[in-house]
Amino acid sequence: MKYVSTRGYGRDAQLGFTDIILEGLAPDGGLFLPAGYPHVDAATLASWRTLLADEGYGALASEVLKLYIDDIGDADLRRLCERAYAASTFGSTDVVDLVDLGEGLVLGRISNGPTAAFKDMAMQLLGQLFEYELERRDARLNILGATSGDTGSSAEYAMLGKHRVSVVMLTPRGRMTPFQQAQMFSLDDPRIVNVAVDGVFDDCQDLVKAVASDLEFKAAHAIGAVNSINWARVVAQVVYYIALYLRTTSAPGQRMSFAVPTGNFGNILAGHIAREMGVPIDTLILATNENDVLDEFFRTGVYRVRAASETEATSSPSMDISKASNVERFVFDLFGRDAARVRSLFGQVASEGVFDVSGTPEFAGLRERFGFVSGASTHADRLATIRALDARGVLVDPHTADGIKVASDLLADGLDAARPIVCLETALPVKFAETIREALGRDVELPAQFAGLESLPRHVIDLDNDVDALKALIVGRLAALPD
Ligand SMILES: *Cc1c(COP(=O)(O)O)cnc(C)c1O
Repeated sequence: MKYVSTRGYGRDAQLGFTDIILEGLAPDGGLFLPAGYPHVDAATLASWRTLLADEGYGALASEVLKLYIDDIGDADLRRLCERAYAASTFGSTDVVDLVDLGEGLVLGRISNGPTAAFKDMAMQLLGQLFEYELERRDARLNILGATSGDTGSSAEYAMLGKHRVSVVMLTPRGRMTPFQQAQMFSLDDPRIVNVAVDGVFDDCQDLVKAVASDLEFKAAHAIGAVNSINWARVVAQVVYYIALYLRTTSAPGQRMSFAVPTGNFGNILAGHIAREMGVPIDTLILATNENDVLDEFFRTGVYRVRAASETEATSSPSMDISKASNVERFVFDLFGRDAARVRSLFGQVASEGVFDVSGTPEFAGLRERFGFVSGASTHADRLATIRALDARGVLVDPHTADGIKVASDLLADGLDAARPIVCLETALPVKFAETIREALGRDVELPAQFAGLESLPRHVIDLDNDVDALKALIVGRLAALPD
């Protein structure tokens, strides 16, 4: 499999999987995608159903990823997948599981990893891939990132103990939940550096961009990223769509649907790709919170990015985005993989903050061809949904509640979508205890694996919102690393 950029780069470059996973954006500013999606037929899906049942999630992951990777040998890939999706990391070899919610809805539990958010599903594999590839290239990578909570901890737990990788993670001081802070700051490893910036998440992200745009500094210190545009993260997520499809259907060709709480369009993009591969997914329900850039796009054809000042801080904070980086990959497919068109549309976003494709036949045919519908949810909706499910004995986190709420609303409005609808659980409730308390008037029970976490010593460095101070910190910490 070769890879191309959504803006045209790479058509003649013969880029393989391992060439693109250590990079961020393509050199032309686009995002990498495979030159074409591999197709899986009913017989293959049936054999995967048996494989998943008999040999577990890691075995399935290796078969799916094989279709996208031809520069890692099959045996090596199988070993990396088995390690990434070990029962010791995800609680069982099933890795994902299902809980019936009634009325045709099923909770797809994909947050069983070490940091209690679905990001572990991709990040654990990325950790294995990075270690493997850096070893092969005899290279090192120093990951610099910014997080509002879930990505940072997921990246740190995935890179922990990988001796060719270090992580410097910027966090907005005092703005993550107590559980998220405890999860990150309790890590005691010289290669994991937590930084609390005097500012908000956007300030953290601006600092990362400022360092990354200093190409000399970036090269001299082997600075890399693990953001959600990384293709390896997207393709790792395709596997759980297939696993959940296989676990909720039994006959060849049987269709079902997904509901997905969405921020940067990373998670649901993987659902789109599984569907393009021929997995019989009927409808993809996209849910946003009050920050509804994507709901607006899928309803109206207008993609309008928001200013930081227009981006609300909500009780589903991991979906508080001002633009949805990964949507460019979907737009590329929507317009028949026309790179010139994508370049022009996202050029318009860069200059005017908006594009409008409402009048195009492609947008008119979007639901029919790609299965997407969308809706938005609010704080009051989240609380009501958490309460209603709790009354039926199921506790969900606020992001997951957004997805369930939007799916229920669309169904009530007459949406025709094949059942079951698997609503993805993007985090466990324990990460967002305050909102659960507000909804239910009681505390979330702490899962046994997290007992004592919040009383461990904290390892975090305070930093002013200043690029030079950040660079000095990076240089100092890298110099002090063990070999
Ligand atoms: C990251 C995250 C999301 C959004 O996922 P995208 O891939 O950005 O769409 C939703 N919920 C939780 C809990 C998350 O951590």
